[in-house]
Amino acid sequence: ESKARGRGRATLFDEDMLSEKRQRRFVERELRAALYLNELELHYQPIKNGSRETYAVEGLIRWRHPVRGMVSPAEFIPVAERSNLIDQLGEWVFRRACADLPMLGDCRISINVSGEQLKRDEIVTMMKRVVDETGVDPQSFVLEITETVATAAGPETVARITALRDMGFKIALDDFGTGHCGFNYIKTLPIDCIKIDRSYIQHLKDDEIAQVFVSALTQIARIQGLSIIAEGIETETEFELAKAAGCSSFQGYLLGRPERRLLSMPQDVQMRQVALSA
Ligand code: C2E
Ligand code: MG
Ligand code: MG
Ligand code: MG
Repeated sequence: ESKARGRGRATLFDEDMLSEKRQRRFVERELRAALYLNELELHYQPIKNGSRETYAVEGLIRWRHPVRGMVSPAEFIPVAERSNLIDQLGEWVFRRACADLPMLGDCRISINVSGEQLKRDEIVTMMKRVVDETGVDPQSFVLEITETVATAAGPETVARITALRDMGFKIALDDFGTGHCGFNYIKTLPIDCIKIDRSYIQHLKDDEIAQVFVSALTQIARIQGLSIIAEGIETETEFELAKAAGCSSFQGYLLGRPERRLLSMPQDVQMRQVALSA
């Protein structure tokens, strides 16, 4: 299983050596230390329009472990979610994004919010606190919530999402198509944007259902006044097909990988970055 997670990516340790519970506790302790030792980084992947201009970026967390190398969020976010660490981690991500915002020109920053965070009021008070302290404009941020979390949300969670949206944050439904895919949720949830999961984009070239699904979704989004982002664009063909299906925004390795240095930013933004880091 660890092999399937990707070549060259460090797994936390030999899974056979420790019980799952001990493993979790071990990672939790290490992650707690990582927060204090500055081992976490927020990398940015460009989100582009049809003309391949970057208008936003998604912040993706990375853990640069001194011994194990880059650890994937897919491995440590679930650990953080099972402990109270996710709140601290979520605050770290938002603060990092606030600090990086001036270096991104006019780009909006999208950050991922865990479903666990949305189970408590702390998410709302924390975001308010950080906005007050840093003076950032919430309109510069998009909060990504997965479809699975959003469609399973009870009234209290929906109220928290609404409170964040009322503060000015934009809300995006992430990984759309992997959950229950209820089209009626699009009408009722307080959202501004839908991100179509890569599993659909991947099959646009050979699966008619995927084509119809994406086209229908873009039409519904247009009626509802929502923007649509096609995730995981890896090839020119996928880019063209997603565009033909009505998508207006695109994200994926073809257009830029997540990076700490924002090399895919426009020239003027890069200059600013240099000036600010000097
Ligand atoms: P996500 O929010 O759906 O992020 C997109 C994932 O797809 C990222 O994986 C990104 O690196 C990857 N990706 C982007 N373009 C392509 C492509 O063209 N092809 C392929 N195969 N993959 C692509 P990553 O960075 O490993 O993150 C995985 C997940 O971990 C994210 O999925 C998100 O749910 C979670 N995550 C990442 N950062 C954070 C964070 O700061 N907070 C929380 N709560 N979750 C995070
Ligand atoms: Mg996301
Ligand atoms: Mg996604
Ligand atoms: Mg995902």
